[in-house]
Amino acid sequence: MPYQPSPTRYNSMSYRRSGRSGLLLPTISLGLWYNFGGIDPLENARAMLRRAFDLGITHFDLANNYGPPPGSAEETFGRIFSQDFKPYRDELVISNKAGYTMWPGPYGEWGSRKYLVASIDQSLKRMGLDYVDIFYSHRPDPHTPLEETMGALDFIVRSGRALYVGISTYSPEQTRQAAAILRQLGTPCLIHQPRYNLFDRWIEHGLLDTLAEEGIGCIAFSPLDQGILTDKYLRAIPEDSRAAKLANQFHWGDKVTPERVAQVQQLNAIAEARGQSLAQMAIAWVLRHPGMSSALIGASKVGQIEEAVAALDNLAFSEVELAQIDAIIA
Ligand code: NDP
Repeated sequence: MPYQPSPTRYNSMSYRRSGRSGLLLPTISLGLWYNFGGIDPLENARAMLRRAFDLGITHFDLANNYGPPPGSAEETFGRIFSQDFKPYRDELVISNKAGYTMWPGPYGEWGSRKYLVASIDQSLKRMGLDYVDIFYSHRPDPHTPLEETMGALDFIVRSGRALYVGISTYSPEQTRQAAAILRQLGTPCLIHQPRYNLFDRWIEHGLLDTLAEEGIGCIAFSPLDQGILTDKYLRAIPEDSRAAKLANQFHWGDKVTPERVAQVQQLNAIAEARGQSLAQMAIAWVLRHPGMSSALIGASKVGQIEEAVAALDNLAFSEVELAQIDAIIA
């Protein structure tokens, strides 16, 4: 059956401006880091992308290395895009990144012009796209002059491969410098993509202020701390969870500790009193900043996307709730 998007897809999603740009992003965006790779069922990936778009999620976030194996999330997306979403290209904001290791040798990672331009060309091919909407430098490169990395982003826009550029996980000072170079080149920095959630508040110590001053948008990745900020780990580690599947990576054993679970339990009680699930409260908490353009979630099931979007029904926090939350995560 050809995909027919829901005619009501724009009825309930809200859209926020990315910094001082003209681009509006859905308040909730969907990332394809996990569960869209070559090892994952294509039909589940398709169902998630369709449901997301039907709920007004117009922004899908990718990177060259998403999978596994690296590159396969782009291939999955490309297949589904060509079958389902091609007629709706102008309703979509598709982002991509390069910075982490993608191919062997000295030109397959970090921030050189050589790597970034080759990578976007490979990514466009895998996704079957003529251009992406946003292209990011995925991480700062301590050994490449920032002028070169930002110059490559500017070239990528001027050559028609991307419409806007962004940076990810740059410090406030690196952000300020990158923004100045990009401004001078005439390709303003649209957006910054940092990790931000109840257990990782680093952006509150300078980055959010810098972004507000520079007029750069902010899209927070891992708002659920990869699933820890949900009720799924309260009793045990479910077999189909990311923690079980990636037990040996990202120090998962250190992440789901009894102390963490105790904190999650207390946060869960506050969420319940608000009439929300913990996942919904965690998303609302990230979105409480006026400068937060979007919460960039991941999902392994359609139901998780539906639950996330329903968080928008209650984004307000009382001072008392915020103080209670601060005390738990202090
Ligand atoms: P989240 O913190 O939203 O975690 C998503 C995971 O949490 C899901 O895959 C699922 O895992 C679990 N989950 C989601 N909803 C629920 C729910 N209602 N109940 C129980 N479990 C739930 O985000 P991600 O860490 O996935 O990151 C999101 C996106 O951010 C990525 O896809 C990517 O686009 C971007 N990103 C960017 C980075 C960068 O360096 N710029 C780095 C990392 C991510 P499970 O499999 O256990 O069900």
